[in-house]
Amino acid sequence: MSKQQLVNQELFDVKNSKIHGNGIYASIDIKKGTKIIEYVGNKVTKEEADIVSDRQLELAKGNKGIGEVYLFELNDTHDIDGNVGWNPARFINHSCEPNCEVEIENDKIWIVALKDIKKGKELSYDYGYDAEDFKDHKCKCGSENCFGYIVGEDYREDAKKKLAEVKK
Ligand SMILES: [Zn+2]
Repeated sequence: MSKQQLVNQELFDVKNSKIHGNGIYASIDIKKGTKIIEYVGNKVTKEEADIVSDRQLELAKGNKGIGEVYLFELNDTHDIDGNVGWNPARFINHSCEPNCEVEIENDKIWIVALKDIKKGKELSYDYGYDAEDFKDHKCKCGSENCFGYIVGEDYREDAKKKLAEVKK
């Protein structure tokens, strides 16, 4: 476990977010394709990740907003637990119309600009949550086409069907 902080702090600030809690904001204009922040944390095995995940979900019960899960799938054998003080990328919020995306390259997780981002804009990416328990995660991203819940783009059709079934 190395605590190297390979982040380019020239590019962003941590500030209170309109979406949720803290957020990450562009401190200068950022060009499309720029690697903005590496999502860092403790490298854990899938087994360890399950334990971390259970513990964090337990904490989250009855205390909304605390104990959120910051696990990131790195490869077939390992995840990154990003719930550490030296990982500002954990503050990046989900958006239904994100301006960043995640790229995994040589076992490193990067948050990369999907488009040109103006100074002062909040950074966001699609968390890619599936349609399983999506109703537990309301989305407040404020984008024009906000889905209302935090669901990955690939799963929104499924989630829509589930919502329609409930209404019947
Ligand atoms: Zn949204």
